[in-house]
Amino acid sequence: KKIIETKDIQKTYRMGSEEVRALKSVSIVINKGEYVAFMGPSGSGKSTLMNIIGCLDTPTAGTYILNEKDVSDMSENELAEIRNKEIGFVFQTFNLLPRASCLENVALPLIYAGFGKTEREEKAFKALDSVGLGDRVHHKPNELSGGQRQRVAIARALVNDPSIILADEPTGNLDTKTSYDIMELFHELHQKGNTIIMVTHEDDIAHYAHRVVRLRDGLVETDTLNPNPTRGK
Ligand code: ADP
Ligand code: ADP
Repeated sequence: KKIIETKDIQKTYRMGSEEVRALKSVSIVINKGEYVAFMGPSGSGKSTLMNIIGCLDTPTAGTYILNEKDVSDMSENELAEIRNKEIGFVFQTFNLLPRASCLENVALPLIYAGFGKTEREEKAFKALDSVGLGDRVHHKPNELSGGQRQRVAIARALVNDPSIILADEPTGNLDTKTSYDIMELFHELHQKGNTIIMVTHEDDIAHYAHRVVRLRDGLVETDTLNPNPTRGK
């Protein structure tokens, strides 16, 4: 079942009289439960495509269908609503609130979703437990290792039970061993049926994904299934 479909999407940034065609024409279908890596050189359009898929931005032209809804021309408020419901974001720099506990960080998206305090704490605890941090809920981010911080961020991405997990360079700030641990967790999430899209520069990280889409100059250069993805330990 299709969860994402972009039809000839284009994105042009205007800066004064200059135009940058960040996406020239991208048509791509991603089904529910797929695990996809976006690769490509700096400036090839990966962030732009992720921003559009994540409903942080809209295409200049073309159509984007997310979960059977055409989101190409939605207003900022409509996009925000879709984002909260459908997308879990994981970032290279974790983006956690430093003064808040792990539990509070993970519970944050549930405030916007309108859940009461008890339910927020229950769901946040469950999400933290599912990433192996059930015993760290009252710690602050600076009391945790990089890998543990990324786990908190992943728990926050999962807490709303999103349709898609979008991860932009999720291992970019982690050492090799910790990166593989995080990929192990992504592997488990994929096994559980989650749809995962990640951007990475690293071949060995991309090798965990089941499909690799390479962008170049705002176009899809190659889109290949990985016959033998890394399955971890
Ligand atoms: P990466 O290559 O790690 O994906 P970039 O350095 O290309 O990241 O971009 C980082 C952020 O800066 C992105 O959110 C992107 O939209 C924005 N950005 C990139 N290039 C420009 C630019 N020329 N002007 C303004 N913002 C930009
Ligand atoms: P990547 O993530 O692959 O590095 P980006 O999507 O960040 O690529 O950038 C694609 C192109 O669009 C680059 O030429 C970049 O400089 C430009 N760009 C990205 N974001 C902006 C922006 N906000 N304003 C102007 N140009 C941008």
